[in-house]
Amino acid sequence: MVKSPEEMQPLLASKNIENMFFKKHLRNFKSEYIDKSIHALSEQITPKIDCTTCANCCKKLEPGLEEQEVITLANLKNIEPHIFKHQFVGFDGDANYLKTKPCMFLNDCKCSIYQQRPNACSGYPHLDAKDMKYKRSLWSNYTICPIVFNVIEELKSELKFTYGS
Ligand code: SF4
Ligand code: SF4
Repeated sequence: MVKSPEEMQPLLASKNIENMFFKKHLRNFKSEYIDKSIHALSEQITPKIDCTTCANCCKKLEPGLEEQEVITLANLKNIEPHIFKHQFVGFDGDANYLKTKPCMFLNDCKCSIYQQRPNACSGYPHLDAKDMKYKRSLWSNYTICPIVFNVIEELKSELKFTYGS
């Protein structure tokens, strides 16, 4: 049974230790096998979650931005790109990111620039990547995104992982 954004939140605190053991359990499986399972579960679960009742990613994360995307977003706001960059874009030593939280383009749980949103947004939660079981972002996204939460919970069942009673 897929958990909604509201149902997932109260469960998170009780999952910390369970997930530590699950990460150990994942060591028993090849990375390619885990990737294939996560990709398949993502395809099944994504259509069952209504992002417009959630928007957690837009409220809690700071999406990475390519240089061209900075210009696109500045134009959408009618702001000179260098001013937009100064005011709204951060740099983490590696890449630019949009530093407004919640996102300045979020409007009532919907993206107001959906067709022109950055790649980091359209690709989120990035469950189609390789070597998922080694990615720290998988576990941070587990606490933010109900798609990731449900994929991991289903993966536990598929891999016959048990914890507690
Ligand atoms: S991608 Fe995940 S976190 Fe973002 S709105 Fe959809 S369900 Fe929520
Ligand atoms: S640009 Fe749109 S999809 Fe991306 S974080 Fe902002 S509101 Fe969300």
